[in-house]
Amino acid sequence: MKDDYDVIIGGSGIAGSASSMILAANDLDVLMIESKTHPRFAIGEAMLPLSAVWMWIVGEYFDIPEIKYLSDANKVVDNITQSCGVKHSVGFAYHEPGKSFSGRHAHQLVPPEMPFYKESHLLREHVDHYLVQSAEEYGVEYVDETPITDVEINNENVSVTTNDGTINGAFYIDATGGNSILAEKMGYPDEQPALETNSRAIFTHVEGLEPFDDLIEESDHPQQSNSLHDGTLHHVFDGGWIWVIPFDNFERSTETKASVGLLLDRRKYPCDESLSAEEEFNEIIGEFPDIERHLGTADPVRPWIRTGRLQRSSNQSSGHRHYLTNHTYGFVDPLYSQGLVHTFESVFLSTTLLIEAFETEDFSADHFSPIDALHRRQLTTADLLVSNGYNSMADFEVWNAWTQMILAESIFPDLYIQRHCLKYFASGDLEEFESLLQESRPGDQAPFESEKEEMLQTMSETLDAYNAGKIPPETTAERIFNEMKHTEWLPKHVYDWGNEEERHIDFSDPEITGELLTWGKTEAPAHIREGLFDFEMPNPPE
Ligand SMILES: Cc1cc2nc3c(=O)[nH]c(=O)nc-3n(C[C@H](O)[C@H](O)[C@H](O)COP(=O)(O)OP(=O)(O)OC[C@H]3O[C@@H](n4cnc5c(N)ncnc54)[C@H](O)[C@@H]3O)c2cc1C
Repeated sequence: MKDDYDVIIGGSGIAGSASSMILAANDLDVLMIESKTHPRFAIGEAMLPLSAVWMWIVGEYFDIPEIKYLSDANKVVDNITQSCGVKHSVGFAYHEPGKSFSGRHAHQLVPPEMPFYKESHLLREHVDHYLVQSAEEYGVEYVDETPITDVEINNENVSVTTNDGTINGAFYIDATGGNSILAEKMGYPDEQPALETNSRAIFTHVEGLEPFDDLIEESDHPQQSNSLHDGTLHHVFDGGWIWVIPFDNFERSTETKASVGLLLDRRKYPCDESLSAEEEFNEIIGEFPDIERHLGTADPVRPWIRTGRLQRSSNQSSGHRHYLTNHTYGFVDPLYSQGLVHTFESVFLSTTLLIEAFETEDFSADHFSPIDALHRRQLTTADLLVSNGYNSMADFEVWNAWTQMILAESIFPDLYIQRHCLKYFASGDLEEFESLLQESRPGDQAPFESEKEEMLQTMSETLDAYNAGKIPPETTAERIFNEMKHTEWLPKHVYDWGNEEERHIDFSDPEITGELLTWGKTEAPAHIREGLFDFEMPNPPE
């Protein structure tokens, strides 16, 4: 280790490593300090189309192929590890206590097959290890088993202390996740998270998990185009949900493990300290016969982890000569797998600002303030979606309506970001991505955004009324469906939004994507046609 660096990064998770490579590739002298050692267990395994697209954009924009590989399951196998699964779909299976699962209670979204990305289930211990090794190849100096014990932000530099002494830098990035020493010292964390969601988690990796599809009776099968094992499966019930993330579901994977995690609304399921994490997990899944059949016989291959409240928020995320990564700033809950989307949105903006700062020598709090705005938007949006998700779990009809809204909510924001890639394929100009940096959060200026926000607010108020016992579940579901029926920005003939029987949409079917494109380019309201479907479908570069 030297005495002085341009940038010191605390923490070598996916955010720390990705940032370090970008900065080193831009000729900055970077030191990354990790308290543990790789490979190490980490979560954040289920991708979304949007996390894949963001990894692709960040890798392409900064010309870091190692980041771009993450966006494509085949490239993960070719370059990183054979231990990752694939995510062809997002599935939700709703369960009621003491009853068997009914196929009517399954939702599935199959995203479009795009030639430039393919979402995975990332075995993070391999992925994070690979990224650290790659960072070293870019010239990042990396030290492990060295916890940071203090950070001092001075006028002219920063000083970072470990048991090995104090090192100086021009800038400090705090990528240490939930226990940031700097954030504590600056008084950034909110004592009580300013978030509605109130959940905790119990999770591990298991062996011997059968595909859920193989365990359900033929008559209870949802008959959807993909098997639920083909993607991330969420078992859902009143007061909680379980992620099932198989790593064995890709024909090119040699892995046999799966990740399983139980998330509980703490108001409905306060922690039972008299039970171990495993006992509590087994007791809860024992209430639901088909969840128990699915998960009860799987063998944990590492100790169970049980958390306290997962939600964290802060009043600030950046300042003079420092910023926190989004996961250091705060976190909501993984119900809709947005963590990695947030990470790469944040890496894109924050490393761009930092490279600019070294060019202009402007390390002021003002220069980095867009990071605060982004992280705040990410957290409040996630909280709105997730807290309403939990609020709708008490009754299937309400859950059904809200989940259809989640499918609607995700389609156009994904397309809005992908549209920048499609335009880039046509022009070859990296500037196509730069307008995303001007939005407080990418997507905030999308042509449908105000209508979508308004719809979400109205639905959220409906769910509040339902939770306060003012309206019954059927009225709640009806109002949510009606909102979707009456919006103009959703393509009605592609999918019958607002029809309670619609629980499956398969955008990998070229006929459906074709219909969507035709609608978007001809019949959609003018602002959607001109602001969202204004791209051609060129071939992406190799
Ligand atoms: C229960 C749960 C499930 C999740 N599931 C998903 C999912 O399915 N999909 C998704 O997209 N996102 C998910 N997320 C979010 C996802 O985990 C994060 O977005 C992502 O892992 C954040 O990566 P990171 O690099 O910012 O932080 P981390 O991975 O937390 O890395 C922080 C690093 O800092 C190191 N460190 C900590 N303290 C110090 C110190 N004092 N000195 C030096 N080093 C230190 C740690 O050892 C660690 O290596 C989930 C989160 C949780 C809590």
